[in-house]
Amino acid sequence: MIRVRFAPSPTGFPHVGNIRTALFDWLFARHYGGTFVLRIEDTDRGRYQPEALDAIMNGLRWLGLDWDEGPDVGGDYGPYFQSERLEIYHKYARQLVENGFAYYCDCSPERLQKVREERIAQNLDPMYDRHCRERNLKSDPTDSNTVIRFKMPLSGQTCFDDELRGEICFDNSTFDDIVLIKSDGFPTYHFAVIIDDYLMKISHIMRAEEWIPSAGKHILIYKAFGWEPPKLVHLPMILGHDRSKLSKRHGATAIAEFEKQGFLPEAMFNFLALLGWSPKDDSEILSKDELIRRFDLQGINTKASVFDFEKLLWMNGEYIRMMSSDELTEKLKPFYSRYGWCTENKPCDEQYLQKISNAMQIRLKTLGEMEDMGFYFFSEPTEYDAKGIKKYFKPQVIDWFVEIIEKFEAVSNWDEESLEELLRDYVEKLQVGFGKVVNPIRLAVSGLTRGPSMFELLEILGRDKVISRMKRALDWMRENLI
Ligand code: GLU
Repeated sequence: MIRVRFAPSPTGFPHVGNIRTALFDWLFARHYGGTFVLRIEDTDRGRYQPEALDAIMNGLRWLGLDWDEGPDVGGDYGPYFQSERLEIYHKYARQLVENGFAYYCDCSPERLQKVREERIAQNLDPMYDRHCRERNLKSDPTDSNTVIRFKMPLSGQTCFDDELRGEICFDNSTFDDIVLIKSDGFPTYHFAVIIDDYLMKISHIMRAEEWIPSAGKHILIYKAFGWEPPKLVHLPMILGHDRSKLSKRHGATAIAEFEKQGFLPEAMFNFLALLGWSPKDDSEILSKDELIRRFDLQGINTKASVFDFEKLLWMNGEYIRMMSSDELTEKLKPFYSRYGWCTENKPCDEQYLQKISNAMQIRLKTLGEMEDMGFYFFSEPTEYDAKGIKKYFKPQVIDWFVEIIEKFEAVSNWDEESLEELLRDYVEKLQVGFGKVVNPIRLAVSGLTRGPSMFELLEILGRDKVISRMKRALDWMRENLI
């Protein structure tokens, strides 16, 4: 029975690495018809951030990573919270003390600090000096002055089999007598994770490779209880394009940021699934169902994977093009409202929006690109692209514009075909290159040098907008060119 868990600590905003772990867990559970558990590891009260918890839940929901069990919260499953399970950890910690595997310790923070400094001065690992180990203190984990520490073996080796990397061993002498229950009564990560993975019958632990050294310590605690540890799968690191550990320096890493920029959850899902896992062939665009069908541990790499933002952009563009234009319109609406283009007081015409989607669908890589690439559909451009001005706004364009405006006013059908015919005839008579005439019109109506097909653009904007924008550009040229 496959049971996996995603166990985030709400101490910071979830980034792509955290969510990639959740996604691998989820795919693995779905592939085998297993169970995906969400457990919030909120025992570090000093670093707890309620907003981080919201961000984790939102990120999971955005990608559709639904969890399968947990306490009932109004007919829905809430995640498990470690902070609600303190008595359980106390019970098991007491058991370890009773069986001689752990001990109470009342060393003050000042003493610990002194020991640390002394050891560092002697070039030793800054470990606890095990002062309390043989003192046999009697106490209680809820006593505010004591902690419970694990009695690490002083010699020998501890090994475990990582499902991807094979056997990994550590010298026990490198392990500190780690704290299991802190003086505030909360367990440490190391302890709570073991108790919960055991009680929740987790079959496979997937987590970032930086947890490998902790796994060695955990194995010893499992042994002390006489429990079989779950199978361990340490996932490859994620690097930035310069092959250093992925961080904010490389751009967006928080999952919410991708949503804000207009990445589609389907594309993000696909992209993250390929970050450290590969199907046996070269397929890149894989739907959620396909990924569930094909996901397996054998496809997970141990080599670090590079977060290729350009590839994500490409993939998102592919997903944008796979949507119907109706769907695209719906997805763009929140962006239009965020930019103040369509609001409750200023509703947009549905057909108009639909036409914009048709024109822009092949061009967008993210929904958020509309802000720079499509603003002119909603407001008159107030400035013109600087390079465009140099290239296209020439004195002779003034006369052309005057004539074209007249023709535009007179044309009976304002549609792509008629406009194209009209302009082609006009340009033929002028005997100049087509672009010389058409490009200034694009610049005048959109402020940009690139965009959808010119005639489609003119049709969408409509006669009034086109003419008034061309007149504005005329004024600009008269003022600036002559
Ligand atoms: N709470 C740990 C984290 O935030 C979980 C590590 C693990 O999966 O064991 O990364």
